[in-house]
Amino acid sequence: MSIAIFGATGQLGGLTIDSLIGRGTAPGNILALGRNRDRLSELADRGLRTAQVDLNVATTAAGVLDGVEKVLLISMSEPGRRVPQHATAVEAAQDAGVRHLVYTSVLDAPTSVLALAPDHRATEELITASGIPSTFLRHGWYTENHRQEFDAARRTGVVANSVGSGRIASAPRRDYAEAAAVVLSTPGHEGTAYELSGDTAWTYWEFAAAAQEVLGTPVRYEVLTPAEEQKQLIGLGLDEGTAGFLGTLNANMHDGALAPAPGELSKLIGRPTEPLIDTMRSWID
Ligand code: NDP
Repeated sequence: MSIAIFGATGQLGGLTIDSLIGRGTAPGNILALGRNRDRLSELADRGLRTAQVDLNVATTAAGVLDGVEKVLLISMSEPGRRVPQHATAVEAAQDAGVRHLVYTSVLDAPTSVLALAPDHRATEELITASGIPSTFLRHGWYTENHRQEFDAARRTGVVANSVGSGRIASAPRRDYAEAAAVVLSTPGHEGTAYELSGDTAWTYWEFAAAAQEVLGTPVRYEVLTPAEEQKQLIGLGLDEGTAGFLGTLNANMHDGALAPAPGELSKLIGRPTEPLIDTMRSWID
């Protein structure tokens, strides 16, 4: 069985490869796809097959999936370019007659208010239209997204943003990667959308309390108004567009877009997701 991974050279891709190999997939049965030559050659040294593919250049994807049975399409990250990049990958999968396409989407993709959701929704639609048997791994938030806030708490004793009472059911990348490996290496996942998130939806007051416990120094949470938050972000050197986008994401979190915790991730990986405080502990080593 041959499994190709778009985004294999990135963080989630690397963890998924580790998990697949840990679960018994032979490295030679994994085809790693990405742009970064150094990373591809590291993976080749571990026995994986590799190919350099830039999804902005459709010709680099043509024929690359010939003979591949399953494909993991890890969502791309360039705003405004993601849907055409994903379309290029799906077209290559269609041309190669791939039997199972797995896509990393976003929690509650069909209805989510999250500013990032429209690209995922559009991608799910084009995958469904392709007719390739598929699985959507709808990801919630990665705990690692909060590393900078933890570091700020360490420096200043304060975490400040406009999320307020919004809850976030985060899990670390490793847990999402393991779920991908399970879906790629066990039967029966075609036609399913998994809503994947951490087991516990925490508030920023709980985040501050966990940081305080891990750091052993006082940490408090300060709720900002959206206007105060914009001023702070621009004061930190962010351009208006980026600050506005982060403000919108925080408003989405305030409204609960990342709060659902249906337990599907822990069910898929057969163990509880890693609690926030444990991930924080790994940040101080
Ligand atoms: P990384 O930035 O570590 O990896 C991104 C991957 O996408 C790399 O392998 C990169 O290849 C590849 N890539 C980017 N552009 C292209 C392109 N034009 N053609 C081919 N490959 C390309 O991201 P993560 O692994 O951390 O996250 C994976 C995805 O998850 C992100 O892309 C994003 O969509 C999403 N995400 C979700 C978060 C959440 O909290 N739910 C948080 C962060 C990201 P190369 O390096 O070789 O160029």
